[in-house]
Amino acid sequence: MRKDIVTSSEEETKEIGRQFAAVCKTGSVLCLYGDLGSGKTTFVKGFAEGLGITKEVTSPTFNIMCLYECEKGVLVHIDAYRLYEQQIELGLDEFIGEDGTYSLIEWPKYIDEFIPITALEIEFVNLGNDIRELKLKGPERVLDKINL
Ligand code: ADP
Ligand code: MG
Repeated sequence: MRKDIVTSSEEETKEIGRQFAAVCKTGSVLCLYGDLGSGKTTFVKGFAEGLGITKEVTSPTFNIMCLYECEKGVLVHIDAYRLYEQQIELGLDEFIGEDGTYSLIEWPKYIDEFIPITALEIEFVNLGNDIRELKLKGPERVLDKINL
């Protein structure tokens, strides 16, 4: 199923992230597409809040992968952008989609070989000012629960 949601503030994009955290089970993989500044990391911050993570989520561009523990498991935040020009052996497959993990991946196209076909997808589009369109793709039972 597909569904489009337009947010008009950072807070609204975080709210969508919180709602996803409430409906996603561990083992979930979310691919976050979109240009720089389109709101991918903002969404991850909301998702982390939804999992009860109090540690601040920052952009992992320089680390590629950051792990955040929570009661229900571990949030795996990956930003694969830096992998476009180099291959680094990170053992990402030990985390992505594994039991007890929630994997949120920015720039998934650079680690295509690790993405399961069951991954949910969100494309973030910057419509100018504080307006962002989130194009969601996933099971109906999940997307039905995502609303502003
Ligand atoms: P990305 O990870 O896609 O590069 P970020 O989430 O790091 O993007 O940055 C998004 C930027 O856009 C932040 O500075 C945020 O405050 C701003 N912003 C403005 N409006 C929105 C919105 N509706 N949703 C998300 N971010 C927004
Ligand atoms: Mg980012």
